[in-house]
Amino acid sequence: MLLTAAHVLAGADRHPLADGAVLVREGTIAAVGPREEVERLTRPGEPRLAHPAGTLLPGLIDAHVHLCFDGGTDPVATLQQQDDEALFTAMKARARQLLSAGVTTVRDLGDRGGLAVRLAASVTAGEDPGPRIVSAATPVTPPGGHCWFLGGEATGSDEVRRLVRRNIEAGAEVIKVMETGGGLTKGGAQSWESQFTQDELTALVGEAHHAGLPVAAHAHGAEGIAAAVEAGVDTIEHCTWMTPTGIDVRADVLARIVEQGIHVCPTVSPHWRMLPQIFGAERAEAMFDAVRQMAGAGVRLIAGTDAGVQRAGFDGLPGSLTFYEHLGLPAERVLAMATTEAAHALGVGDETGQLTPGFSADLLVVDGDPLADLGALRSVAAVVAAGRHYDAEPI
Ligand SMILES: [Zn+2]
Repeated sequence: MLLTAAHVLAGADRHPLADGAVLVREGTIAAVGPREEVERLTRPGEPRLAHPAGTLLPGLIDAHVHLCFDGGTDPVATLQQQDDEALFTAMKARARQLLSAGVTTVRDLGDRGGLAVRLAASVTAGEDPGPRIVSAATPVTPPGGHCWFLGGEATGSDEVRRLVRRNIEAGAEVIKVMETGGGLTKGGAQSWESQFTQDELTALVGEAHHAGLPVAAHAHGAEGIAAAVEAGVDTIEHCTWMTPTGIDVRADVLARIVEQGIHVCPTVSPHWRMLPQIFGAERAEAMFDAVRQMAGAGVRLIAGTDAGVQRAGFDGLPGSLTFYEHLGLPAERVLAMATTEAAHALGVGDETGQLTPGFSADLLVVDGDPLADLGALRSVAAVVAAGRHYDAEPI
């Protein structure tokens, strides 16, 4: 399959090529370059897709989703009312929605009963349309802790290690730990409160790393963030620096995040403009400023939406990226957050996230030029995931 477009964002640095092309064969990118050169490599009868006003770029990566939640007003109640088969059917529909939004890879950071692992396998086998899914299986939380209802309760270092091993055996490719509380869980710890001791956290990271798996730590509280950094986690989710009284971006911890190369996924909703109404202007500005400070300090930020939680749909990634533009980040850095940088954080940086020969054919065509206007990412013209072509129309 030959795809041509007005602009092609090629290679690891998304170098813009005018009048470019990508050749896809057997699920892999076979060639990228100026249209005339790549056209010479095509065989008679090979399908051609021309987008003379569009931009071809790597498929987007949403580094934080929950396929098991519906994104409605009470995702937990909806989940608890569904048996596994009904839930699995709903998760397939959400995977299709992600594709329609140009997302070709996701990291699922918490499912129930290994359903995201099961869906990942059926997508890879070509049985269901969807993005590549890097799954954490069941998140690790203390008894009654944040998202306990997903089935991953553990306390004490031994139990925590056992649960990590159970997830690895179930097919997890990343381990998710709920280091602090979260708003989704009624009656649980507050968002700024830590849920695990330093010893438990260190045991969890040790067990995961022993098996070669990265650790993603859900951490809102400044204390919990510091504990996660000390334990050596690989990514920090949310990273809102909450304290009982406000927000405290601790300079010493921030410096260690940069030094240790920890990726931070701030999980931004496409409705981020509503935050001043929800939290008040002052608090919202403090939240925005915390992300701005991390960006300014050189933290390796990655894009994620927390799709599935309240009012976070599965088509929200392009809309959420405008948040970073609002903070003053250049479009080029924002695109990296949703492609190469995220791919590295997910452990798939050698396979996807860039238009480079030998990489998986995960690509997106949009109308317009996202480097000039990130809003162009909302105008999806075509999506190719693992070499399979999907039209822009809802699949
Ligand atoms: Zn989440």
